[in-house]
Amino acid sequence: MLFDIITIFPNFFDSPLKIGVIGRAIEAGILEIRTVDLRDFTTDRHRTTDDRPFGGGEGMIMKPEPIYKAINSLKGGPQGARVILLSPQGKVLDQALAAELARCQRLILVCGRYEGVDERIREHCVDLELSIGDYVLSGGEAAALVLIEVVSRLIFGVLGCKSSAERDSFTDGLLKFPQYTRPRDFIGWKVPEILLSGDHKKVAEWRRRQSLELTLKRRPELLHKAQLDTEDLKYLRSLGWKEA
Ligand code: SAM
Repeated sequence: MLFDIITIFPNFFDSPLKIGVIGRAIEAGILEIRTVDLRDFTTDRHRTTDDRPFGGGEGMIMKPEPIYKAINSLKGGPQGARVILLSPQGKVLDQALAAELARCQRLILVCGRYEGVDERIREHCVDLELSIGDYVLSGGEAAALVLIEVVSRLIFGVLGCKSSAERDSFTDGLLKFPQYTRPRDFIGWKVPEILLSGDHKKVAEWRRRQSLELTLKRRPELLHKAQLDTEDLKYLRSLGWKEA
């Protein structure tokens, strides 16, 4: 999968893209991530990418011409490219949206700065306006990184173990069960006995119940969309859950 990131700060991505899961996937040729310096698409001596807002008001707005040219310079590559504008006003990223985006061959990510991007870019050049949450960052670069991490985990071959993404929180609509590793007893804090039993069926049942219980306690609204079978429903009802 190919990600193109349009930004005025290409260096922002130098270190994060070299490490961990993403770094290995790039080395293995599963992911290709390129940065495009927006200033290369300016025409003035100062390489200006922003200007004052029409109608007055605070801050600076990112000019449409360089972004328009940068996006167009990237069109015509692999089929199915989607242009995504990172924006606090966009559709909020969740696991389902990430799974949808992971099916694309190419994503072109546009990072805003200052007070944001001229509205005409949003209207005419963008397929999806995407937010990573209801808060305001100073720029789209950190949001682009979050998006790349979330989507990449769902691309075949990026994670060493395929099932780890399948069992992540939110994949089936629930939070993941609690996990433990050695030592069995850490300063008197013990690992639940069931996990040491070697009984895989019982462990799976325990984990499912823990997932249900955790989700009910911390994120009950998720249960309304989760994939639940009759056993799940019975257990949830026994914990006092009431379907809406
Ligand atoms: N004035 C804008 C507003 O109130 O909606 C906020 C602009 S913000 C300071 C600058 C840039 O950061 C945005 O253009 C966007 O690219 C990025 N950004 C900020 N918060 C974001 C979020 N929650 N998700 C995605 N991108 C975000």
